[in-house]
Amino acid sequence: MSVAHYYETMEYGPAPEADGEARAWLKKHDAVFGHFIGGEFAAPHAGKHFTTLEPATGKTLAKVAQGSVADVEAAVGAARRAQPLWARLGGHGRARHLYALARMLQRHARLFAVLEAIDNGKPLRETRDLDVPLAARHFLHHAGWAQLQEREFVDQVPLGVIGQIIPWNFPLLMLAWKIAPALAVGNTVVLKPAEFTSLSALLFAELSAQVGLPPGVLNVVTGDGTTGAMLVEHPGIDKIAFTGSTEVGRLIRQATAGSGKSLTLELGGKSPFIVFDDADIDGAVEGVVDAIWFNQGEVCCAGSRLLLQEGIAETFRKRLVRRMETLRVGPPLDKSIDMGAVVAPIQLERIKSLVEIGVKEGAQKYQAATALPQEGCFYPPTLLWNVHPSSTVAIEEIFGPVLVAMTFRTPDEAVMLANNTRYGLAASVWSETIELALDIAPKLMAGVVWINATNLFDAGVGFGGYRESGFGREGGREGIYEYLKPKAWSDRKPRVKPPMPIGSDHNSAFELPPIDRTAKLFIGGKQVRPDGNYVRAVLSPKGKHLGEVGEGNRKDIRNAVAAARSAEAWAKATAHNRAQILYYLAENLSARCDEFEARVVATTGVTSVKARAEVAASIERLFSYGAWADKYEGTVHLPPLRGVALAMHEPVGVVGVACPDEAPLLAFISLVAPLIAMGNRVIAIPSERHPLAATDLYQVLETSDVPPGVVNIVTGGHDSLVKILAEHDDVDALWVFGSKEASAAAEKLSIGNLKRTLVDHGLMLDWHDKAASEGPILLRHAVQVKNIWIPYGD
Ligand code: NDP
Repeated sequence: MSVAHYYETMEYGPAPEADGEARAWLKKHDAVFGHFIGGEFAAPHAGKHFTTLEPATGKTLAKVAQGSVADVEAAVGAARRAQPLWARLGGHGRARHLYALARMLQRHARLFAVLEAIDNGKPLRETRDLDVPLAARHFLHHAGWAQLQEREFVDQVPLGVIGQIIPWNFPLLMLAWKIAPALAVGNTVVLKPAEFTSLSALLFAELSAQVGLPPGVLNVVTGDGTTGAMLVEHPGIDKIAFTGSTEVGRLIRQATAGSGKSLTLELGGKSPFIVFDDADIDGAVEGVVDAIWFNQGEVCCAGSRLLLQEGIAETFRKRLVRRMETLRVGPPLDKSIDMGAVVAPIQLERIKSLVEIGVKEGAQKYQAATALPQEGCFYPPTLLWNVHPSSTVAIEEIFGPVLVAMTFRTPDEAVMLANNTRYGLAASVWSETIELALDIAPKLMAGVVWINATNLFDAGVGFGGYRESGFGREGGREGIYEYLKPKAWSDRKPRVKPPMPIGSDHNSAFELPPIDRTAKLFIGGKQVRPDGNYVRAVLSPKGKHLGEVGEGNRKDIRNAVAAARSAEAWAKATAHNRAQILYYLAENLSARCDEFEARVVATTGVTSVKARAEVAASIERLFSYGAWADKYEGTVHLPPLRGVALAMHEPVGVVGVACPDEAPLLAFISLVAPLIAMGNRVIAIPSERHPLAATDLYQVLETSDVPPGVVNIVTGGHDSLVKILAEHDDVDALWVFGSKEASAAAEKLSIGNLKRTLVDHGLMLDWHDKAASEGPILLRHAVQVKNIWIPYGD
């Protein structure tokens, strides 16, 4: 046959990679592995192992330890002992260790690439060219953050011992994403890899010890989901960082609620791949190949929903189907294949059954006629055409090489379809008109948007989801903050609630009664009566009856959420505009200083000097957030490609805020102002004991041009209102500053839509201390970062 023939048919022989070194490593361990605890392999306490298989052949690869409570205990103990020494080593010391880990990965790159391909079933081409180099880049990049930590994160301290749970789709890369930032800033780690793919983590741990990583800094406990759950529940863990399914993410949110453990969740997705009619069609077809057939489609941010503008749909389908025919599926170690094996029979079954459902629900199925190996878990590249947006396959994450396609007519329709999912991990936008692409990107509910590109990742660029794709970011500066906590919050004391005063008669003599001023609720810019028509009395610390406020209920919260939702224009208002309104609020509050001072004295019993200081601090705080409104900006990342990634600070959306009893005016403003400065809309529950300073703000809000619905205030009992807000699926985030129980309830009940929570666990802040209660310390929680990748050049 001639070269021209091969060129035409693209048929070429296998190009197998040698696996001798990887097999020799397995043999060195007799293919039986313990956990890696305190710098060495440790046999499981209960002596139990499970078998891990090779997806491409179905053959046994090794036996891996099944972690028990005692194993988790030993690993957490080792990490706990190592943590203070690791933190004390300082940024430069840790930078040197992380650099050594990066170099170790580079030196053993081929061993890792081969082992990963055998264990997971993914093509060597991908492990060699993406997983391993990117893992090394993560350690190198984070060696840099360790080096700079003492300068760049001076007001932060490490969290302590981190429990990390990772999935099977990118075992080594997920390990790197998780442990590099955690170790860089002084935490130690207990990692639980996925049961299907534990081997690269064990190899990594072994080689880390060889390059001098101190014992206990990195511990690996293998096992199934029950081992993961043991780690989640262990009281010696300060934070759980999880990547995996939304279902397990919810369980973990529930299990950690109220425990004080930090949590980040990187969950599933159903990411749109939007092609406009002016796109480079051939480029976009290649993009689809990368979006959904990379890593067998077992990618959380896979572009699994193809949205095509109607005019080009048929042309696109033809070219895509033709391209599918050239894709090769085969053994992972063959360097000339495009797709390897699906990770396990159970995953293969899931893919098959979802495709069947898709066809039953009306989709037209195209599958590449590529030959599949006889044994092992293989599935061909698949396109489901003409899929209805409400079809199961358009909604459920398939986590396999299956693309579902639908069409749209206008850019608005594209945005609507793209956002028609409970997820929000990533999106690709294809158009040759940069104005159109950059107009669409901010409208997409996704943590990452790629313009004319897909599946780009870098250690310096944050990755993470909106909505039910989880919260928290991995990579870059924003990822570092997930492994630190503010120094100023370290010594908070538990809040002690003074006993409720006993009410005294308020008018014993024949005096003129005061004109009734029962505060209503403030919803949608109007003062409205509470739905239940109940009020609660407000007493001074000595029991004097000061007035009454409305008792808000479920219906009032529902109305407030609807009002906040319809005030969406606030999110799009310019930062300059929001700043002006915050200054205007400060101006109008200052005009009524004396009145607020008297109110604070009467309700809290503090001296007028202290009350005056609280009002002055509140005015200053409004000024601060007027200042921050157009200064807490995103940044431009420079990933190693020709292009940029714009890290945009976007508002979280509709946020519930429960305010504490101490410093009732200042705390209210300290919590509401950063949220509105960043474009969020708020449903605020004022201090339960001292709500009158907040209800007095109605008139200040009314006279300061705050658009209706931006700030809604519902008075009443915290326990019930926090519960209603937590369970409301149209509330995007919930901040709770109050009792320990309210914090726990907020975390536990927020799993419906996995809202972002910021809670104080009943620990008191000094609201006058700017370091503890003003600026980025809260602004960071008032935004979510969207990274928009814009490659340029040819
Ligand atoms: P899981 O979410 O079940 O697993 C992820 C990790 O969590 C694994 O290490 C797993 O252990 C562990 N785990 C499982 N149950 C618990 C628990 N109760 N507490 C703590 N840890 C637990 O994902 P699967 O691997 O089962 O895949 C199921 C589906 O999830 C896929 O079909 C896909 O749709 C989605 N998925 C999404 C990923 C993403 O990156 N977004 C990644 C992987 C899967 P073990 O492996 O031993 O079960």
